[in-house]
Amino acid sequence: MFQKILIANRGEIALRVLRAAKELGIQTVVVHSTADADAMHVRLADESVCIGPPPSRDSYLNIHQIVAACEITGADAVHPGYGFLSENARFADILAAHKITFIGPSGDHIRIMGDKIEAKRTAKRLGIPVVPGSEGAVSDDREAYRIATEIGFPVIVKASAGGGGRGMKVARSAEDLPVALATARSEAGAAFGDDAVYIEKYLEKPRHIEVQIVGDGAGKAIHLGERDCSLQRRHQKVWEEANSPALNAEERSRIGEICSKAIADLGYSGAGTIEFLYENGEFYFIEMNTRLQVEHPVTEAITGIDLVHEQIRVASGGGLSVRQDEIKFSGHAIECRINAEDPRTFTPSPGTITHFHTPGGLGIRVDSGAYSGYRIPPYYDSLIGKLIVHGRNRVECMMRLRRALDEFVVDGVKTTLPLFRELVGNIDIANGDYDIHWLEKHLAETAATA
Ligand code: ADP
Repeated sequence: MFQKILIANRGEIALRVLRAAKELGIQTVVVHSTADADAMHVRLADESVCIGPPPSRDSYLNIHQIVAACEITGADAVHPGYGFLSENARFADILAAHKITFIGPSGDHIRIMGDKIEAKRTAKRLGIPVVPGSEGAVSDDREAYRIATEIGFPVIVKASAGGGGRGMKVARSAEDLPVALATARSEAGAAFGDDAVYIEKYLEKPRHIEVQIVGDGAGKAIHLGERDCSLQRRHQKVWEEANSPALNAEERSRIGEICSKAIADLGYSGAGTIEFLYENGEFYFIEMNTRLQVEHPVTEAITGIDLVHEQIRVASGGGLSVRQDEIKFSGHAIECRINAEDPRTFTPSPGTITHFHTPGGLGIRVDSGAYSGYRIPPYYDSLIGKLIVHGRNRVECMMRLRRALDEFVVDGVKTTLPLFRELVGNIDIANGDYDIHWLEKHLAETAATA
């Protein structure tokens, strides 16, 4: 087991990882920018190192400073959290060259999954269902037209180097295709310096369903069921739940087994998430995230398994703590991402939290680095905490969530709490009846009538 772990992140996830390390009796080091000197994770860590000024590129993304902090403190492993350097293959390689363990997969696996076309090709080879479309980038408009008519309209043109939902255009018919190709190419060229595009069948009303996996790097892997993250705004997840209200037990175990087998065959090490669009009983791979995800606690709630413990165990060579047949799914969990944002316009609302009171009671978990008097720096994302609620079934979970949201107090800044209070009383949400477009449609409709 490791002696000392350095946590290369901030906010709630730095605290989350720190808690797991403490439970395992491992010493903790955190790095922080000058803007985060008062942060909770800095106060609770055994040691802390200031690695630079507020902008991320000079601090949380500064590989040299982080490696230097490992050497100064004698850390033998680094947990990258999510975002920042968590999916940076070069960072994983540099740590390996310094004989410091990266708590995550190999640089090569990060690289494969970071390239959209390569990821899709690999997924297909491993038996994971993918969206019908071109095999790799399309070379010209004639080839694009041939493929689009083969798979049938509507199709979506996507940037090979894409990310963050940019460089995607839908063509509803053959007449739309030349314009969709040209715009996607020019957007991709401007955003990523690479104008290669590929084509996929466009799914009209899919849900976003993702499967949590953990591999031991030696040919064994488990899956921990799925999460439904269909409630999104601008491709940002807002509300996540496990299990998905849309899947039946047979679909759940089928997709879970496909994913764990693929991950075992790949020889993948660490936690990861395989993301799908799901429509009419079919799963279509969109991407794999080679790290811990923001919404991982809903999976922890229904399985009782601490995913960060598993990450640390696997990275240290200790293997997985459970076998697939020992994993039991129990009840239902929902996570709400509490952002310091205007609940209607979603503009960030940095400032000082004058009063912070979190709900409690059976089935409630709050992951947050915030406290009364905490000043939210304007430099980073606006997530100030996550409310995770567990119940024996979805109805009990929703009842408890409504009560917990009423108890939650954050004064001094605007937050998305009012949005969740509204969603928990909505009939479609109560019925679990929503797709990836539901939230944006709902926001547009309620804005129009307000
Ligand atoms: P990015 O890496 O840019 O976020 P993704 O491939 O993950 O791109 O897709 C982002 C989002 O775009 C998906 O969550 C989904 O909402 C939409 N999308 C992507 N591919 C399709 C498709 N074939 N049909 C319908 N929607 C899609």
